[in-house]
Amino acid sequence: MQKLSIKDLDLQGKRVFVRVDFNVPVKDGKVGDDTRVRAAVPTIEYALKQGARVILASHLGRPKGERVEKYSLRPVGEHLSDILDRPVAFAEDCVGEAAEAAAARLKDSEVLLLENLRFHKEEEENDDGFAAQLAKLCDGLYVNDAFGAAHRAHASTAGITKHVKKAAAGLLMEKELEYLGRALNNPERPFVAILGGAKVSDKIPVINSLISRKVDKILIGGAMAYTFFKAEGFNTGKSLVEDDMMETAREVKRRAEAEGVKLVLPTDHQVVDSYDPLNSRKTIPVEFTNQGLVGLDIGRETVALFAHELEGARTIIWNGPMGVFEEKGFEEGTVGVAHAVADAAEKGATVIVGGGDSVSAIHQAGLADKITHISTGGGATLEFLAGDELPGVAALNDK
Ligand code: AMP
Repeated sequence: MQKLSIKDLDLQGKRVFVRVDFNVPVKDGKVGDDTRVRAAVPTIEYALKQGARVILASHLGRPKGERVEKYSLRPVGEHLSDILDRPVAFAEDCVGEAAEAAAARLKDSEVLLLENLRFHKEEEENDDGFAAQLAKLCDGLYVNDAFGAAHRAHASTAGITKHVKKAAAGLLMEKELEYLGRALNNPERPFVAILGGAKVSDKIPVINSLISRKVDKILIGGAMAYTFFKAEGFNTGKSLVEDDMMETAREVKRRAEAEGVKLVLPTDHQVVDSYDPLNSRKTIPVEFTNQGLVGLDIGRETVALFAHELEGARTIIWNGPMGVFEEKGFEEGTVGVAHAVADAAEKGATVIVGGGDSVSAIHQAGLADKITHISTGGGATLEFLAGDELPGVAALNDK
């Protein structure tokens, strides 16, 4: 870790601005899945223990630069207060008088949560004046613990670092960078990647980077597989295909072959008839797909094939669901892969899972405690794995 860490800062009695990722579902004033809030707790508790005056800032949803009540962070503050078992002050705005007064009132080992950063359009514009206003709240100390937002150069993740004395990584950020960095730069082999989801175009940079790093195998599921099948001349029926990515898919296949990377595609899948989707679910070999069928999940034979390909693996990364996981009846493939990676982890493999759907599958199957590292990032994890430097990480000071 060559970036400055929160552990390198002298926090006693100081106001520290901590960028967290509290972008969680909130319904009727109650927080739903609070994984992201809990993931930031070690950093918050560490800072409080050091006697810091902790100022937390986050975005929530996409209010597009306006104050939208349903995107208020107030309920998240109340939830955090329950988790920490101590009061969490709340400022009605993230900059200006309300924020400055609340920050000034903070005493040692007290916490303040600022209102949603994205209530100001300047946040996403990485506006320098806005970044300076945020920085003004603290005593020159900035900590970024929002790995999930690190792939964006916004005022609170990038701009602010120019206006503080020290910009350091939080404990969660460090952990993410450590696990993902090790998997990417020095993986124990065999190294297997599992990719799913809908959009091939989103994942091509990751696939290319994994091929360059000579990952041993890439297992491809989800709608992504259909673009590869169609590029081979298979009938994919009405399954989701990115027609403009077919040449790219052929190129990926050629590169994988040239580099000795094994690309594994599904052999069977669950389909429905597009005219009677509710009553026609069946599992068929992929080559039996006809014009009227839509593929919505991988089949059991493919789950077994993927599990077999994972045998003996020492490093596994998984991102993206194997099917339309959010619909009942089409979650089996994704849950099956969740079990397969958990089994591999029990046999000693380092298993890293990232991205909303794959992470929910792990939780749904009750396997979270078996996984080596569950990444809080979706886009950020993918960009990191694609080998891109994340702006929110680049902006931190070096050790
Ligand atoms: P992504 O954002 O690219 O990771 O894709 C996630 C989405 O892919 C989820 O919402 C899934 O419903 C969708 N998905 C996965 N497999 C399929 C499929 N066979 N057909 C349509 N959508 C799919």
